[in-house]
Amino acid sequence: MGRLQLNKLTKVFDGPGGDIVAVDELDITVEDGDFLVLVGPSGCGKSTTLRCIAGLEHTTSGQITLDDRDITHKKPKERDMAMVFQNYALYPHMTVRQNIGYGLKITTDLSKAERNDRIEQTAELLEISDLLDKEPGDLSGGQQQRVALGRAIIREPEVFLMDEPLSNLDAKLRTTMRTEIQQLQQDMGITTIYVTHDQTEAMTMGDHIAILNDGELQQLGEPLECYHRPVNQFVAGFIGSPSMNFLSVRQNGTVLEHDEFSYQLSPETRSSLSDASEELTIGIRPEHIELVDGDAKNAIRTTIEVIEPMGETTYAYFEIGDETYTASIGGETRITAGDAVHVAFPERKIHIFDGRSGRAIKNSELDETAEPPEA
Ligand code: ATP
Repeated sequence: MGRLQLNKLTKVFDGPGGDIVAVDELDITVEDGDFLVLVGPSGCGKSTTLRCIAGLEHTTSGQITLDDRDITHKKPKERDMAMVFQNYALYPHMTVRQNIGYGLKITTDLSKAERNDRIEQTAELLEISDLLDKEPGDLSGGQQQRVALGRAIIREPEVFLMDEPLSNLDAKLRTTMRTEIQQLQQDMGITTIYVTHDQTEAMTMGDHIAILNDGELQQLGEPLECYHRPVNQFVAGFIGSPSMNFLSVRQNGTVLEHDEFSYQLSPETRSSLSDASEELTIGIRPEHIELVDGDAKNAIRTTIEVIEPMGETTYAYFEIGDETYTASIGGETRITAGDAVHVAFPERKIHIFDGRSGRAIKNSELDETAEPPEA
C-alpha cells in the first residue's frame, strides 16, 4: 500500500533578505497506485515539496503520512521511498549491474545469487539487459536514465519520487521515456509523485496533477479537469499550449467593454456575472478562436501578423490593441501574414475570470463527448 498525505505541509527557508516560504500549507492526498504530477513554474516549491516527502528536508510545520503512519520526522531510509533525479547520479566506476544492485547490497541481506536474479529481472523490464556489464560513461543519456530508474525500481518501494527525470534528454527521447515510465508505473502500481515544470508532461503522464504557484496549491485534479475547468486564471494560463489568451474588460450591463471592441453577452451569461466585480478578464483558448465574416456576432477586425504552420494546425498571431494573441486554426486553412480578418470568441467557449482575484467565474462549455465506434 502507498497512500500518501500531506497535511498543511510548510517549509520556510532562512534567506539573506528574510524568510522564504517555499511550501505553504500544502494539502495533497495521493491514493495508493496513483501517478501525481507536481507542476508549476520555476521556484514554485515543487522540488522542496518532493524533498520534504523524501525526508531530505526537515519540514517547518505540517504532517506527512504514508498509509496513515506519521512519517514527518522519519529518516529518508525509513520511509520506503525511492527517488530518481534529473542528474542520474550513477556511480561512474561501477558497472550497470553494480549500480542497479548497490542499494540491495547495502539495505537487504539477500544473497549474491538472489540479488543477481533481481538485477536481471529489472534490466529485462527496462530493456537494458545487454548493458549490464558496461559503465555509465559508455551509455547514452536515455540509457543512463533507465539505469537510474532500475536502481529505484529494484527496491520495490512503496512510493517513487521523480524530480524532472527526463529534462536532460532530447525531445524525441523524452517522449519515448514518458510513455515508458507511465507503462512501468501502471504495471507496477506503485504510488508515484513526479515533479516537472513542463505542462505537457503533466497533462500526458499524470492520473492527477497538482499545480503550484508561490508554494501554494492552486488546483488538484485530473489533467483534463484542470484544462477545461481551471479554478483561476493562473491555472488557465499555465495548463495548455499555446497558452490561453486573456483580455481585460469592464462589465457594463450585458456588454463586456474592451478598449478595442464590445462583447455582447447573452442574458444567461450575464446573470452568472451578477456577483462579480466590474473588472473582468475574458479567457479564450487558441483552438476556440474562429475566423468569421465581418457581420458575425462579436466579430473583431484584426490583421494576421505571423503564421506558424505546424501541419495539422496553424498558429496565427494577431493583435488587438497592443497585445498579441494566438489562434490555432485548421492546417489546411488558406491564410497568410498580412491578411485582414475578423476573429470571434464564441460565448460557449470563453472563460471569465475576476479581474482582481483571478478566480474563475465562468468556464467554457464542453461539447458532448462522442462515443468511439464499437470495436
Ligand atoms: P525549479 O523548477 O526551478 O527547480 P521548484 O519549483 O522546484 O523550482 P524549489 O527548488 O522548491 O522550486 O524552490 C522554492 C523556493 O525555495 C525558491 O524560492 C528557492 O529559491 C527557495 N529555496 C529552495 N531551496 C532553498 C535553500 N536550501 N535555501 C534557501 N532557499 C531555498
